[in-house]
Amino acid sequence: MPTPPGQLVILSGPSGVGKSTIVRELIPRFGGKLRLSVSATTRPPRPGEIEGRDYYFLTNEEFSRRREAGEFLEYVEVFGRGHWYGTLLSEVQPSLDAGQWVILEVDIAGAEAALRHFPDAITIFITPDSDAELERRLRLRGTESEAAIQRRLEVARGEMIHANNYAHRVVNYKVDEAVAEISEILQQRGLSA
Ligand code: 5GP
Repeated sequence: MPTPPGQLVILSGPSGVGKSTIVRELIPRFGGKLRLSVSATTRPPRPGEIEGRDYYFLTNEEFSRRREAGEFLEYVEVFGRGHWYGTLLSEVQPSLDAGQWVILEVDIAGAEAALRHFPDAITIFITPDSDAELERRLRLRGTESEAAIQRRLEVARGEMIHANNYAHRVVNYKVDEAVAEISEILQQRGLSA
């Protein structure tokens, strides 16, 4: 019998919410059946980063050439830094074809672009604790003005609007609980541990 194709899993969430930590703990739970897509970027490697493990480090010319050749599933220019980031189709399609599941860790725009290409992808949004909890913590700190607290809450609420576009929302209250919850979602969708 031919191997059934793998599924694409799109993981998003506000920066600092702990996505990378979750992914790092999630992958080993599924042996070689689940892998993280390695993105390409034009930013220079940071100390300790390894080509092909952390990113594919491309020159601007190489990135644009490959972009124009249609090799990217999605890409974005991170403003302010002037660096490009993107997911190469070659990171995703061959693995899916071989029956492996692939996780994309991308921002909201990247997730939308990837979904256009893979409408059956499993979408998961990681959120920080609840709005009420966030507000409680901000007030408890007592270091911020009412206006600053309201601004932060507004940003968080804006992110939550996007969260509603994802099939699953997972609160990162404790990393191991979030990992367990995501494992459960993936298993319900057919990935065996
Ligand atoms: P850093 O330079 O700190 O590794 O990443 C900067 C930002 O680029 C992060 O917010 C990260 O989510 C985003 N990023 C990294 N790879 C990709 C990618 O393949 N696609 C998109 N859309 N964003 C990415």
